[in-house]
Amino acid sequence: MKVSFWGVRGSIPAPGPETNRYGGNTSCVTVRTAADDLIIIDMGTGMRALGGALMPTPFGKGAGSAAILLSHAHWDHIQGFPFFPPIFIPGNKFTLHGPGHSNEMLEGILEGQMNPHFSPMHTIKNLGAQITLMPVPHGHSFEVFGVRVRGLSNPHGSTESLAFRLEENGRSFVYASDVGYPASGPSDEILAHYAGADMLLHDCTYSPEDRAARIERGFSSWQDAAEAAVRAKAKHLVMFHYDQDYTDEIVDAMRDRCRAALDELGGQDIALTPAAEGLTLEV
Ligand SMILES: [Zn+2]
Repeated sequence: MKVSFWGVRGSIPAPGPETNRYGGNTSCVTVRTAADDLIIIDMGTGMRALGGALMPTPFGKGAGSAAILLSHAHWDHIQGFPFFPPIFIPGNKFTLHGPGHSNEMLEGILEGQMNPHFSPMHTIKNLGAQITLMPVPHGHSFEVFGVRVRGLSNPHGSTESLAFRLEENGRSFVYASDVGYPASGPSDEILAHYAGADMLLHDCTYSPEDRAARIERGFSSWQDAAEAAVRAKAKHLVMFHYDQDYTDEIVDAMRDRCRAALDELGGQDIALTPAAEGLTLEV
């Protein structure tokens, strides 16, 4: 699997000279399977550039097909959807796997942001592409393009966020953004979900100091991410979803402190990469 980053920021886009290196767009990641099929994870503002990159491919001619995994429906995970050109082209097919127990709930979430008060697009029924909604209840497993996917709900403030584990040809990638564990840390169930991951992408919104001051928002610090990676025996930790007020220099410092924490916790063999827009990593 090849993992590419189109948006790595949390909560709200943060463009500008101080965030140029890591990027200002909100959460959007793609996974290319061994057969080069496309799985999109989350639909933040990074999805706009992804759409542009797909237009010269079969998606520009209405012959594209992709799966979308949606962790939860906060703005920074859905706002790119109405600005993703392939959804307007008849013939394209998307299957969106997201939170909830019913298609109606998922449809309501997506329709909500296209309400005329918020958007000129009025309704997802105006889109040309075929969009199939598939709810993912806690613990649900399914297969997309030969990749085994399982979704498990993590606590995220007053709501929940799905962590997805993807497995193909014996390799594993876990996407665990937007998670605020209780004081006791991640549950045994969620640690088993992350266990031995070749790559664990984990929420790294805050420093431990800022997390302590904003605990109710339901995010992780780099310390939480390092502890989860060591406890789950992950092989590679990817930092993700940086606070909108963190400059590139602050993220550099978080990376250094996270590296030191991994080493201190016994995770010297765990590779560490801070996600950045435009970066592609091989799982
Ligand atoms: Zn978020």
